[in-house]
Amino acid sequence: MSNGIFNVPVAQNEPIYDYAPGSPEREALLASYKDQYYSTVDVPMYIGAEEVRTGKTAALRPPHDHQHILGHYHIGDHTHVKAAVDAALDAREAWGDMPWEHRAAIFLKAAELISTKYRYKINAATMLAQGKNCYQAEIDAVCEFADFLRYNVEYLTQIYSDQPESSPGIWNRLEYRPLEGFVFAVTPFNFTAIAGNLPAAPALMGNTVVWKPADTQIFSANVVMEIFREAGLPAGVINLIYVDGPVAGDYIFNHRDFAGLHFTGSTGVFQHLWKTIGTNIHKYRAYPRIVGETGGKDFVIAHPSTPAGQVVTALSRGAFEFQGQKCSAASRAYVPQSMWPAVKAGLISDLSQFKMGSPEDMGNFINAVIDEKSFDKIAGYIDFVKGSNEAEIISGGNYDKTSGYFIEPTVVVTSNPKFRTMVEEIFGPVLTIFVYEDDKWTETLKLVDETSDYALTGAIFSADRYAAIEATKALQNAAGNFYINDKPTGAVVGQQPFGGSRGSGTNDKAGSYMNLLRWVNARTIKECLVPATDFHYPFLG
Ligand code: NAD
Repeated sequence: MSNGIFNVPVAQNEPIYDYAPGSPEREALLASYKDQYYSTVDVPMYIGAEEVRTGKTAALRPPHDHQHILGHYHIGDHTHVKAAVDAALDAREAWGDMPWEHRAAIFLKAAELISTKYRYKINAATMLAQGKNCYQAEIDAVCEFADFLRYNVEYLTQIYSDQPESSPGIWNRLEYRPLEGFVFAVTPFNFTAIAGNLPAAPALMGNTVVWKPADTQIFSANVVMEIFREAGLPAGVINLIYVDGPVAGDYIFNHRDFAGLHFTGSTGVFQHLWKTIGTNIHKYRAYPRIVGETGGKDFVIAHPSTPAGQVVTALSRGAFEFQGQKCSAASRAYVPQSMWPAVKAGLISDLSQFKMGSPEDMGNFINAVIDEKSFDKIAGYIDFVKGSNEAEIISGGNYDKTSGYFIEPTVVVTSNPKFRTMVEEIFGPVLTIFVYEDDKWTETLKLVDETSDYALTGAIFSADRYAAIEATKALQNAAGNFYINDKPTGAVVGQQPFGGSRGSGTNDKAGSYMNLLRWVNARTIKECLVPATDFHYPFLG
């Protein structure tokens, strides 16, 4: 029973630790890193109240050190998908009936655990599993994750308190019911925060969830689950399984109680899942909610009025942090001829100072890409550039997978604005630049808008306000997150709600009330306080 209309703690962004040399947090983080590196973990699936170990296992390996084994996870099959769905459906009624403040308290506790007891563990797990340096892991696995959980609680109260007007004798109410069925959360490798938020957001709104992470994120997903369980999440609310995507899809997308898909990953996979759901639409109890945040081909365009140094730093950080494996990473840039010599020299200088290697050496700005499949794909793009007479590599271009999946940050310059690497998502440390003639600003804006199917993030740099206004209008639909005089990465929950449209997703803005609205199914309740007892209306005379 909720005998009170409760205020929730005001959400604030989790402060970022900087891990400077000699700081106590650096020592604590490295200690956790070593502890996890030198032990081996046996990772079960979590289905209902059970930790499920199938005995059929696969190794967990750091991408920068792929001969090393961090542990093993247990691989499931279709029987585990069924068991996870059954567990979610069994837990549904009690969880949905739980007073909202108790659901909120569980996720607020999880946020506290992330920012305190588990801070170094979840950061180091993300460094190890996904090959992030300490700062990239901090802003993801600690800060963004805690922010998602805290701000979502605030957004829940915002949604619940959005109520209709009433009239004399009538009390109108809106009840934000959970969806009728279970939600399927399918998560990508690149952000521990996204992986945790995709099951957590629907769960906060009263839904129960089957969660399938990317194989390369299972090591840190296991820490996420440890935190949820310690925070008091009841059995069956989030069920974590390790199966191939199609194995999960075959069962789930044929299930009558499939109520929603919360997906982040590549555009091709999302389109395939949407098609499957469409084909099966007659099988479901209700129309499933489909939320997907997908790929990007994110741009930076500089107006000639911009100081070149700003553009150089935006590209160095925006294109290469986390090896370009952010959906928001700058991967195509448009630089005016007059600025090009300075930008070229600045980029070459910055990249020559990047050190590449293991995240354990905190002097390394660049680490490895996630796995061999990614490595081969990115190397294939670099080879394609090397064989082309429309483009040249001005920095980087080498790669080596002997001990880890290392690819040098690579800058390509092309004479063809529709060159393949200006159009396709590479998802690696490869930036392609087109140098435009200074008097072709307006034409170049059109080019930026029309070059790619994606519309996730984009940045314009301009010291000229009229040029900034023109770009803001011309690129209105080219990015869901649009930056003026800043790099296109690093969205913060509560400040820059994140998501793109066109080929980049449904733009339901993770980290905002808009996303949470997709996980409720409103019921309008009209209550008549004194019901009528005579059918005669006055006009009848
Ligand atoms: P991916 O598409 O390869 O995998 C995403 C998830 O889908 C994984 O859990 C994977 O196992 C699963 N999957 C794959 N095929 C499936 C199938 N047939 N049925 C069910 N599940 C299936 O993506 P990834 O490599 O993990 O992540 C990188 C991609 O994610 C990039 O395209 C990136 O732009 C995108 N991304 C987008 C955002 C955003 O907010 N827009 C954020 C992060 C990542």
